[in-house]
Amino acid sequence: MAEPVQLATVLSATNLTPNVRQLVLQPQHKLDFSPGQWVSLKLPVGPHPPLTRAYSMAEPASPAGTLTLVFDRVPHGLGSTYLFQLQVGDTVSLSGPYGHFLSPQLLDRELLCITRYTGLVPIHCLLKAWKATRHRMPVFLIAVGPAEDELLYHFELLTLAVTCSVFHYFPLVTSTDTAAVAQVIDVLRPWLRSHHHAQPLLCGTKPFVHPLRQYLMEAGYARKEIRVETYG
Ligand SMILES: Cc1cc2nc3c(=O)[nH]c(=O)nc-3n(C[C@H](O)[C@H](O)[C@H](O)COP(=O)(O)OP(=O)(O)OC[C@H]3O[C@@H](n4cnc5c(N)ncnc54)[C@H](O)[C@@H]3O)c2cc1C
Repeated sequence: MAEPVQLATVLSATNLTPNVRQLVLQPQHKLDFSPGQWVSLKLPVGPHPPLTRAYSMAEPASPAGTLTLVFDRVPHGLGSTYLFQLQVGDTVSLSGPYGHFLSPQLLDRELLCITRYTGLVPIHCLLKAWKATRHRMPVFLIAVGPAEDELLYHFELLTLAVTCSVFHYFPLVTSTDTAAVAQVIDVLRPWLRSHHHAQPLLCGTKPFVHPLRQYLMEAGYARKEIRVETYG
């Protein structure tokens, strides 16, 4: 059954990097969601409004019921360009939550997270939930950004890597999908030799995610055990 559409008010609008913006929204009715889930925004733009776009929750559920969305400015992108100009007090229509990318059971297994740019958003939500658990399984995160100043959550993740011995963070910077895939494989190849039972989680655009899923399958993972979320 379709979730009801409701209005949400922008409580804060902040640039996390020059081209990534965070909106904290207060929906009229609280949404019960898990890390990895997303909401569907109905935006009053495009040739046939509303334009529907999906955005993952970047932070776990809060007592006040706020939703934190984080998105990059896609060149000529109708939806992200509209969202970028929203200000405190503006409203947006949304429905959800949706999706099955992540589940709490994942926190029982070593995680291999591979993300490109805002593909890190649902993994960030998962990491926040993971930090709150007492029994932490190791997490290995490879996060690719398009430029040094576009590495999302970079200082937060560096701090986590320094303060938490089971969290391993590999930031990479490259601007094309092909180079991003090649650089990730360079990091993965030696890692896979000594880690056999990790749970892979891949998130980003299809030209990034699909070749890496293929690589992991050639390395011995079954297709169904590789969790993917693809954007665009
Ligand atoms: C389940 C799901 C969750 C998502 N969560 C997020 C999120 O948390 N943050 C976020 O920034 N986006 C997220 N997206 C992508 C988002 O829904 C939009 O596709 C994106 O903002 C581009 O919309 P647009 O209208 O601006 O661009 P469009 O006019 O639709 O153009 C999109 C084109 O731009 C390219 N592109 C470059 N960067 C991106 C990008 N980040 N996402 C999609 N396409 C891109 C693609 O090649 C694509 O063909 C999610 C998508 C899905 C399906």
